[in-house]
Amino acid sequence: MGPPGKFTFEYQALKGRQLDHIGHIFRPPSEADSLLLQVSLGCSHNKCTYCAMYDDPTQKFRIKPMAQVIADIDEAAQYGAAGLTVRRVFLCDGDALILPTDHLVEILKLLRERIPTVRRVGIYGDARSILRKSPAELALLQQWGLGIVYHGVESGDDEVLKRIVKGSTAADAIASARLLRDSGIRHSVMVMLGIGGQKRSAEHAAATAKVLTAMDPPFVGALTTTVVPNTPLAAQQDAGDFTLPDQWGMLAELRTIVADSNFTRCRFHANHASNYLPLSLNLPADRQRGLDQLDRVLQDRDEDDLRPEYLRGL
Ligand code: SF4
Repeated sequence: MGPPGKFTFEYQALKGRQLDHIGHIFRPPSEADSLLLQVSLGCSHNKCTYCAMYDDPTQKFRIKPMAQVIADIDEAAQYGAAGLTVRRVFLCDGDALILPTDHLVEILKLLRERIPTVRRVGIYGDARSILRKSPAELALLQQWGLGIVYHGVESGDDEVLKRIVKGSTAADAIASARLLRDSGIRHSVMVMLGIGGQKRSAEHAAATAKVLTAMDPPFVGALTTTVVPNTPLAAQQDAGDFTLPDQWGMLAELRTIVADSNFTRCRFHANHASNYLPLSLNLPADRQRGLDQLDRVLQDRDEDDLRPEYLRGL
């Protein structure tokens, strides 16, 4: 996945009841109203150079005991009596799709049985975890309610993917998209503006448009890279080996991606809190509107058109 979303848990304060949440809980912005059910801790990869999401020692990767997950599901099953209907569930942490399929199916079955109001279950997955599943396994997960996988592709440029130690290639991302589409699970893809640095900016943007076109997902989120202290990327920056493009460079990358990618039908967001210019487009229908807006901002270079730094967050 890309940089973290907010880590709030709206249900936690409900009537003093708490689910078992260890460390920081991250979720995609679109899962803001979801029940956040922590089924694993940390990330089995945990090597991406820009990521500090799970550097807390308590969040070293492991699968949470099923007994704890069941206790949390039973706890959440009582929310209905308190007037709160759980319609969506997001399975945390990092790349929870890496969990064995039978383990995930057991969780999905329990959710269906004990919280029948749930309409969709989401999860973070990356190319490594998606490609480990067979088409039959993904179809089974879909059948039991897994509705969407959030996948941080970050870049379509294999050179950039190697430098950020993503653990997968552009070809892996394309294969992942095909597998998910065939299984009926929706695919939400994140890419990162600026992650190629100034030197690789043009290649990164062009290759990202290309990989997105080949993947053709229904949802894309473009996030702006922030160099987080104490990460390998911050060390590269300190050593002069990585320079983040400025705000105009990031927006030029966004323009290339909007101009060059071709989708059947895609909800394209660049409105994450990290972004300089919030943009929300239905592509391809809104392409020209997006390009006109980007061209105007890139031509004027007026910082008043951008989200101020103090309002930008991870
Ligand atoms: S896959 Fe990479 S970005 Fe996602 S949680 Fe793991 S280390 Fe962080």
